[in-house]
Amino acid sequence: MKKVNIETEAIRTQIERTQYLEHSNPLYLTSSYVFEDAEDMRASFADEKDRNIYSRYSNPNTSEFTEKVCKMEGAERGYAFASGMSAVFSTFAALLNSEDHVVSCQSTFGSTQTFFNNILPKWNISTSYFKIDEVDTIEDLIQPNTKIIYAESPTNPAVDILDLKRLGDIAKKHNLIFIVDNCFATPYLQQPIKFGAHLVIHSATKLMDGQGRVLGGVTVGPADLMHKIYLFARNTGPALSPFNAWVLSKSLETLPVRVEKHCENALKVAEFLETHSNVNFVKYPFLKSHAQYNLAKQQMKLGGNVVAFEVKGGVDAGRRFLNSIKVLSLSANLGDTRSIVTHPASTTHAKLSEEDRLQTGITDGLVRVSVGLEHVDDIINDLKQALEA
Ligand SMILES: *Cc1c(COP(=O)(O)O)cnc(C)c1O
Repeated sequence: MKKVNIETEAIRTQIERTQYLEHSNPLYLTSSYVFEDAEDMRASFADEKDRNIYSRYSNPNTSEFTEKVCKMEGAERGYAFASGMSAVFSTFAALLNSEDHVVSCQSTFGSTQTFFNNILPKWNISTSYFKIDEVDTIEDLIQPNTKIIYAESPTNPAVDILDLKRLGDIAKKHNLIFIVDNCFATPYLQQPIKFGAHLVIHSATKLMDGQGRVLGGVTVGPADLMHKIYLFARNTGPALSPFNAWVLSKSLETLPVRVEKHCENALKVAEFLETHSNVNFVKYPFLKSHAQYNLAKQQMKLGGNVVAFEVKGGVDAGRRFLNSIKVLSLSANLGDTRSIVTHPASTTHAKLSEEDRLQTGITDGLVRVSVGLEHVDDIINDLKQALEA
């Protein structure tokens, strides 16, 4: 069949129907699967057959979910994890050996940063960081033991954009594995494999579920690398539950329409904030004032759902703003139907030193809004009254 569009892949990718010919995929709550006979059992364990054995290895629901993500990202194979962080951990743990080295963008998800700084060093694996405006000097960071280049784009929470094609070319030249956390963009807006990424990681907890219900993660990429990740995961147990996979697979069916509307609302919110006198600056990839606007337009279909802005008056003003919010939620999640505001300097990034915070663009008054699917006028009105409180 001719290759279909991403919206169709998200809806029509389906594992085999059972004898009941159900239209929508059922939930397979089973920890294990039966064998026909001794020979079937032997061949299955010898990996001579592509079949389900035990739900830590695979399950029809997790297979459907990963198959959809593979089709949407343009990848060969995937493995679904219990959370985004278990995807990050298992991917690195499967591919690295002790004494290896990682090159990463400075601004990463908070727990990923902690993983690089406090957990990988247990195996003498070190990480060197480059800033958004230092892509030109990345090659200086590469050492003989460097194995991975890691990037997030847009970054959290400052929504900076990294040049994925550039990073992909550098990885190729130095024979490194290029990994992108594509959580903020989703495959609907950006497909890193097209720019040279080998592996793409997602926290499915965010826009993929999109309704704030379940945790999940997934890594997709070429069969050889994914086989290593699969073997690591199957023996260490970070598997996604069938129920969460079932929810996430359903969620993907509406991902394109949801993300389209999230982005439409976010652009309007960003435009509103830019005109408000109590706001120092606004960052949104599809605002012309964004430093990497042109790059964002090349890499992404739309600007995403996260808007960062700085309230005038520093930490106190940031906190006062949050305390005045009435409709939006103060919550740690993002990519939910419900709009969410956070103050990174006093919450998610409070453990970083002030210097490290500023390096990653987190000024004291920076507020991150994950723009949801409420009527955009109601989102804007709430932000407006809180800015004026
Ligand atoms: C949330 C998030 C993660 C971690 O995902 P969990 O599902 O919370 O474990 C990783 N990367 C990014 C960019 C995220 O936003």
